[in-house]
Amino acid sequence: MRVIMLQHTQDPEHVVAQAAKLCYSAVGVEAIAEKLTPEKTAGFIQKLADMGHVSAFEHAAFTFGIEGVSRALTHQLVRHRLASFSQQSQRYVSLKEFPYVCPPSLQAQPELKIKFDRAVQELGKTYTELLDAGIPAEDARYLLPNACETKIVVTMNARELRHFFLLRCCNRAQWEIHDLADRMLTLVKQVAPALFAQTGPGCAAGPCPEGKMSCGNLADVREKYQKL
Ligand SMILES: Cc1cc2nc3c(=O)[nH]c(=O)nc-3n(C[C@H](O)[C@H](O)[C@H](O)COP(=O)(O)OP(=O)(O)OC[C@H]3O[C@@H](n4cnc5c(N)ncnc54)[C@H](O)[C@@H]3O)c2cc1C
Repeated sequence: MRVIMLQHTQDPEHVVAQAAKLCYSAVGVEAIAEKLTPEKTAGFIQKLADMGHVSAFEHAAFTFGIEGVSRALTHQLVRHRLASFSQQSQRYVSLKEFPYVCPPSLQAQPELKIKFDRAVQELGKTYTELLDAGIPAEDARYLLPNACETKIVVTMNARELRHFFLLRCCNRAQWEIHDLADRMLTLVKQVAPALFAQTGPGCAAGPCPEGKMSCGNLADVREKYQKL
């Protein structure tokens, strides 16, 4: 998996703080900006998060390039309706000899991995035969498995990202999208630490929201996301 941050709102924390301060201020946005030091900005963002005034977080957007992930992952990712997506097409791109993702559970069992590889390669062989026989890629792709690698560009605002991390950094999330969420969180924390402070799964900053389904590792999970 390869995840890079392609672009983000310039000075994201400043924009968010400026927008939110406007709600409580008699002066205009320019006068507000003049008074906003980095320390004041970080403290104010923490206050907004604590009181749930997170609509202002929508003013900061982050765009990621994601490659080498499975279609199984992107099926889950695109369920996040408030994000924007551009994904490599299986209609316009023919995927002869397509790379694919092999889950760790199979990698740990060499005999089963051989079976898995054989089945995926067989699908690839038939897919290629169909293309060579003139079947359009948009129809031949019905054979392509969830394991098939894909590339996708995703844009989310900071509010949606925090929601995404809440669900997908959880130990109950599927391993591949969990890995993606951890990488995205690492990247956004580098450019906007205050916006993403105490962000991660639900239990990073409160009780586990999973109830009976909890993984039971609250202390370890908290330690992981404090260090991330
Ligand atoms: C552990 C796990 C297991 C899952 N298992 C399944 C499964 O078995 N089957 C399945 O189909 N899905 C499953 N999902 C996907 C899940 O149901 C959601 O579709 C996905 O997580 C996107 O979440 P969301 O709708 O909260 O987020 P987003 O689409 O990103 O929306 C963010 C928030 O905006 C608000 N919102 C967005 N759209 C609307 C709307 N139309 N009306 C009202 N409010 C809205 C909601 O508050 C929402 O939480 C699973 C997810 C997880 C994390």
